[in-house]
Amino acid sequence: MSYDTSNIFAKILRGEIPCHKVYEDEHTLAFMDVMPQADGHALVIPKMPSRNLLDADPRALGAMMATVQKVAAAAKQAFGAEGVLIQQFNEAAAGQTVFHLHVHVMPRKTGVPLRPHTGAMADHAVLAEHAAKIRAALGA
Ligand code: AMP
Repeated sequence: MSYDTSNIFAKILRGEIPCHKVYEDEHTLAFMDVMPQADGHALVIPKMPSRNLLDADPRALGAMMATVQKVAAAAKQAFGAEGVLIQQFNEAAAGQTVFHLHVHVMPRKTGVPLRPHTGAMADHAVLAEHAAKIRAALGA
């Protein structure tokens, strides 16, 4: 299957729809997931188009994982988490619903369960506040 430029993350990259941005560089963008499974749940995407890990250019993967590492450390600090879950789905059979490569970054605390993967849309004021906390921890 090929890359479809009408996917929602391609629209975010083109500035056609808004996001709560936490980090951006030449090759990657990180923003809050609108249906967070944990407080501070962010997504990291490469700017280079690919459906998922399977068709991605290895150079995009390298840049993406460098940003995942930065955002994971910042989110852990910002939310006083004890750990960070990194998750990534490839194709619908594996649970992928948006077909532009992305990695989930979820701060985790012992005894606090994750909310459902396709759960409720978060309040935008809360997402904005959480994005600001991660940006502050990034020193941005
Ligand atoms: P998946 O493809 O299964 O890894 O999941 C896609 C993720 O994107 C889900 O966690 C959604 O909550 C999230 N999502 C969908 N639309 C948006 C959006 N416009 N902005 C931020 N996150 C989104």
